Amino acid sequence: MTAPGAGARLVVDLDALAANIARVRSTVAPAEMMLVVKDDAYRHGLEAVVRRAAREGVTWFGAFDVETGRAVRALLGDDVRVFTWMSASASETAVAVREGLDLGVGDAGMLEEVAIVARNSGTRGRIHLKIDTGLHRNGVRPEQWPGVVARAAELEAEGVIEVVGVWSHIAEASDEEDDAARERFEEALSAASEVGVAPAIRHLAASAASFARPEFRYDMVRVGAFAYGIRSAGGPSEEALGLVPVARLEAPVIETGPVRVDVGVFEGLPSSLAAVARVGTAAGSRMLREIGEHLDVEEWPGAAIGDIVTVFGPGAQGEASATDLAERIDTIGEEILLRLSPLIERRYES
Ligand SMILES: *Cc1c(COP(=O)(O)O)cnc(C)c1O
Repeated sequence: MTAPGAGARLVVDLDALAANIARVRSTVAPAEMMLVVKDDAYRHGLEAVVRRAAREGVTWFGAFDVETGRAVRALLGDDVRVFTWMSASASETAVAVREGLDLGVGDAGMLEEVAIVARNSGTRGRIHLKIDTGLHRNGVRPEQWPGVVARAAELEAEGVIEVVGVWSHIAEASDEEDDAARERFEEALSAASEVGVAPAIRHLAASAASFARPEFRYDMVRVGAFAYGIRSAGGPSEEALGLVPVARLEAPVIETGPVRVDVGVFEGLPSSLAAVARVGTAAGSRMLREIGEHLDVEEWPGAAIGDIVTVFGPGAQGEASATDLAERIDTIGEEILLRLSPLIERRYES
């Protein structure tokens, strides 16, 4: 008897990560790349990813929450900039300011919180003001923007904050919506400029727009998916983008006849993948038959316990990537990776 998930592993190719980073940087230059490392670096493992990225010269990391931001700071020290945009409480905001994290600020209340902590601790809060350009996922509403930037200008003059950036997030689902969002972004930049707020770093695009829409790059792009070689579902191929999937999920056969693979590592892999997705085996690709606690896979002659099945990833003879798998069930590659247990064993190749 083995524990669920024993033997299954996510193999992470750090050279592929480095190659993707180089590809992103050359594509978006002269804009800078921020590497987004939320969700434990999209399950690739925060520590190994940020260490390698730093070696490749990445200086900006997008950490989402303050806890992850602190972890990146602890791993890489003070030479890198760490952007967090989800502070759950005033005390988290205080920690972020004291540790020199760059903070996304999406409302007037948080702006005041940052100022208070900075004043009391004799530091300067580095903030990136977020304008809501239509996603309504926090961000200053356009009607409140003039007041917020005016207040930011005052606090900047007082020396307690530095407005490093103005930013927003877009859906990257349709060009029309994104264009409308960019118009609101431009208006917000003009309003900021009118009160003397001149951020050095304007950032709007994530992976898809950073490649497809040069006018969305501004000074920096926030890239997660593409750095890990996760292409957009329904979008250009990895080949066309010049990217390679970084992670490969391998799992051992634990029973034969029917062939059964232990993937206790998945937390709720959609059962709709059964009979539509294929996995890679020593004998070529095989249909996934059933998804429950284990995966049942179409048999092959000579299948033996311990044989390795590639559920997704480069070199697989089944579905080539997490996004290929995702497309079978109308979701996105990230979703497949994020359904992996955070406790999955990872093996690094480089
Ligand atoms: C996740 C995230 C990104 C990165 O998006 P990708 O499509 O994975 O590149 C960028 N910005 C914000 C605010 C995010 O939450």
